[in-house]
Amino acid sequence: MTERTRLLDTFLTLVTTDTQTKREGRMADVLQARLEAMGFAVMRDDAGERIGGETGNLIAKRKGNSGSAPLLLCAHMDRVSPGTGIRPQIKDGVITSDGTTILGADDAAGLAAILEGVQRAIEQGVAMPDLEVVFTIAEEGGLNGSKNLDFSLLSAREAYIIDSSTPVGSIIHQAPAQTKVTYRVIGKAAHGGVEPEKGISALVVAAHALTRMKLGRIDPETTANLGVARGGTATNIVMETFEMHGDVRSLVTAKMDEQVKHMTEVFERTAAEFGARMEADIEFAYGPVNLSPDDTVIQRASAAIRRAGLTPSLRATGGGSDANIFNARGIPACNLGTGYRGAHSLQESLEVAELERIADVVFALIVEYASA
Ligand SMILES: [Zn+2]
Repeated sequence: MTERTRLLDTFLTLVTTDTQTKREGRMADVLQARLEAMGFAVMRDDAGERIGGETGNLIAKRKGNSGSAPLLLCAHMDRVSPGTGIRPQIKDGVITSDGTTILGADDAAGLAAILEGVQRAIEQGVAMPDLEVVFTIAEEGGLNGSKNLDFSLLSAREAYIIDSSTPVGSIIHQAPAQTKVTYRVIGKAAHGGVEPEKGISALVVAAHALTRMKLGRIDPETTANLGVARGGTATNIVMETFEMHGDVRSLVTAKMDEQVKHMTEVFERTAAEFGARMEADIEFAYGPVNLSPDDTVIQRASAAIRRAGLTPSLRATGGGSDANIFNARGIPACNLGTGYRGAHSLQESLEVAELERIADVVFALIVEYASA
């Protein structure tokens, strides 16, 4: 088998291995066997017990011979729904599902590229740094695997997350912090036809508040969105409760906090004005990725991408990844482009050539770290 057919074979094996958030047990078993066959010592931390999942994060270590700094590679084992019973198709060099499920290249592309990059380095007998491979659980829906990762088991000083839906060669050096917000306006119910004047419409209160509030693009680094709302019980009852869910994001945590404070204050003030009440649930989700082009982790990613014959390109994103958690825990981490498109949709796809390129980048990172 050539390296390229082996890589494709690994990718297809992984996407046809069922996995879901908190149900990563089978996937973890498959990956653990592959890692052990390459000489890794594999542990599982207690993150699964903490969040009610089938397995913990996989933490695998392999001693190198270059005497250089350890290299940490990370990808996630779960995927969104519908993501079981995947039947991958390959047409004109593009891999897709059969249209009834997602493809699961998010993040099987990262998992397969890491396995292939390491395998290739071992076979070619190149100098190897100490390797630390982290395959996380529950990345989807809140980064709960990496949030509960046992960082005491790691010694690497930088990390590379292989999980960005950007072309291979991209390096995500900026990603916003996020706070999840829920605002509940509580007015007073009354019969809408008989005595509406005795009621206080939570909807009307919320509407007034929203017209007084900054939302959407706040500044180049900050956004705020209320994306889900619900309220009311019947057409003839003045709406008692109206609830809104959203998130506030910023590259600068202080700006995010400032925006949340603004929204909370406007809801509070407006509710008081109308004789209503307001409840807020504010939940800090994760901190930002805000790396400089001069940081070692970016410099080495760029060098590896060039070594793989590609052009590095620094990018910012509006989404979160395990990189946010590594950075918060003091390990500078960037997310690298894997080339998958349409993630979380039935149209998700990945070019075979991109899969090959991301494996080339992983291999180049190993060579880069061995010589650093
Ligand atoms: Zn992902």
